[in-house]
Amino acid sequence: MAGDRLHIGRVPGRGLRYRLVALEDTVADALARHEPSTAASRLMAEMLVSVALAAASIKGEETLTLHYRGRTAGAVADCAATGEIRGRVTPVDLSEVAFGPYVGELVTVKWLRGRELYRGVIPVGVPTASEMLEAYFGESEQWPARARVDVRIAPEGRVVRARGAFFTREPGWPPGDDPLRPVAERLSDPAAVDGLWSAMDGGRADDEVGAWLSSPALAEAESPLRYSCPCSREQVELLLMSLGARDLREWVREQADPHVVCEYCRQRYTFDAADVERLVAGLQGSLGSGDAAGA
Ligand SMILES: [Zn+2]
Repeated sequence: MAGDRLHIGRVPGRGLRYRLVALEDTVADALARHEPSTAASRLMAEMLVSVALAAASIKGEETLTLHYRGRTAGAVADCAATGEIRGRVTPVDLSEVAFGPYVGELVTVKWLRGRELYRGVIPVGVPTASEMLEAYFGESEQWPARARVDVRIAPEGRVVRARGAFFTREPGWPPGDDPLRPVAERLSDPAAVDGLWSAMDGGRADDEVGAWLSSPALAEAESPLRYSCPCSREQVELLLMSLGARDLREWVREQADPHVVCEYCRQRYTFDAADVERLVAGLQGSLGSGDAAGA
């Protein structure tokens, strides 16, 4: 199976579970929309790979958000259980000098149809996205994990690599010998990691993981991932209506080219005075009906 995907498997003889992610097309799509600098592209790519790995445990209509708030830059990445991923980074012109280690905080939010199910905030101060993901997992799931977020962006913005691997212990595995130790050694060896990505491209990821650990690995599931934003004109209209009639009319009057751009996918929604009058009429209609939208 080619293209962007999440691959889940187990190594029962070692008490390990793993997730592998290939995300080159999704990252290329994100970069084409946002046109960030090379450093900002790397931050965006690392956050998209991280959220895809972290979101492997959510289900149904849930969405997971990872929000890194750093001293010099920030990034938000969302992944739905259905494999739709989106992200944004600020500033888009981040310089290599400014993009240092991950220092700041990581906010994690689990959503179900726009309602928050869980919110966690952890302080971070680590050199790499891999360690930030390990810290998040250790904190939120109280379970040790080893991760490798492997991103390479060429200077002209081409996505050379956007991959991730994530290993954790099976629940119930007896403490004592640490099954993650050999994994950590492999994940820190660039040649071993390159070998894993080649095996993934050749449909032999599980064989390679099994060879790493000298114990057979079993594939459990594979599912596609893609860049997709759930924004809509209807949502943007609701947002504008929340300004109220007076501010909304003022907004359309003062703008030379009244529009709203989605900060995730860069979709542009334009409005004119007639659109705004229609929204105001809707606003007054909902106020007058005595039924505040069932909320
Ligand atoms: Zn959007």
